[in-house]
Amino acid sequence: MATATLSIDLDSVAANWRALDRLSAADTQTGAVVKADAYGLGAARVARALAHAGARRFFVSCAEEGATVRQALGPGPQISVFCGHMPGDTDMIHDLDLTPMLNSINQITRHFESLPGHPFGIQLDTGMNRLGIEAAEWEAVAAMVLEAGPELVMSHLACADEPGHEMNAAQLSEFHAMTDGIDVPRSLAATGGILLGPEYHFDLTRPGIGLYGGLPYEEATPTVALSLPVIQLRDVAIGESVGYGCGWIAEAPSQIATVAAGYADGLLRALGNRAVLWCGDVPCPLIGRVSMDLITVDVSHLDQTPRRLDILGPYQTVDDLAEAAETIGYEILTGLGQRYARRYIEGARGD
Ligand SMILES: *Cc1c(COP(=O)(O)O)cnc(C)c1O
Repeated sequence: MATATLSIDLDSVAANWRALDRLSAADTQTGAVVKADAYGLGAARVARALAHAGARRFFVSCAEEGATVRQALGPGPQISVFCGHMPGDTDMIHDLDLTPMLNSINQITRHFESLPGHPFGIQLDTGMNRLGIEAAEWEAVAAMVLEAGPELVMSHLACADEPGHEMNAAQLSEFHAMTDGIDVPRSLAATGGILLGPEYHFDLTRPGIGLYGGLPYEEATPTVALSLPVIQLRDVAIGESVGYGCGWIAEAPSQIATVAAGYADGLLRALGNRAVLWCGDVPCPLIGRVSMDLITVDVSHLDQTPRRLDILGPYQTVDDLAEAAETIGYEILTGLGQRYARRYIEGARGD
């Protein structure tokens, strides 16, 4: 089969959620961010595994993602939408009982007019300048909004993955200034914020990447393994080139494996001539350019004929691979291709 296998360990996702839950104070609830198809791992399966582990509050980016998660979970768990209440979302928000995190006066007006009495949360901008209501606007509308009973007031940290960054304390103090004294649950921390310490936790945390085994949560258990089939092996002589643009030229007689996965599967072109694949515990360099569906790997030094090579697994995490492409683990995970055969491991067994 010329299809790679992506193994997704739902037990590890659940273990990471429990570990992050233990890191925060007893009266802090731990949510779960399952946007972008649960960072590429499959929102329905991941959300069900996390609900089973005890998660009750889920976060997605848009209403359509909320629909997928609601279908997977059924009624009960709260599903919050970071992009809030957009034009055209009203029916979905109503019918699927989604909780929009309103982020502007415009959205507040839309929500109150179209779905009066329907649950909502509020997103405040404490300095990131991406999504959320700014301090002056909040001052003007806070009394009216609080009267309507938001379920959550939240903000997002811009630099939580850099514990020493002065922006963290500045945003924390701005969040206090904007929310102290209100009688509504508050949330500021994603994965990075949880690791900054209890003063960042408030009533609810919103981890995403840490659930899926990525930095900045160094203690996370990896959740994915990706094994790629070898399609063809060939010997090349000194001076022969391999791949598009003659991107690699043999300096010694070499054996090259052509492997079925490429940039259409999320193996970024920046990995060309930089990444390493693994045959068991033996590293094998990716040579030449990454093609759409294929990569080429130098396997000259192996003493066996490889049938598969691993690009994510025990010897290479998403963050290792991200480093080779000069990106972050988030981008590697969310780029995992749709062509991979996804194999879920749950209850310590695969299906
Ligand atoms: C993506 C996101 C999160 C989760 O962030 P991680 O760094 O993956 O833990 C939390 N809150 C908001 C608003 C987000 O956009």
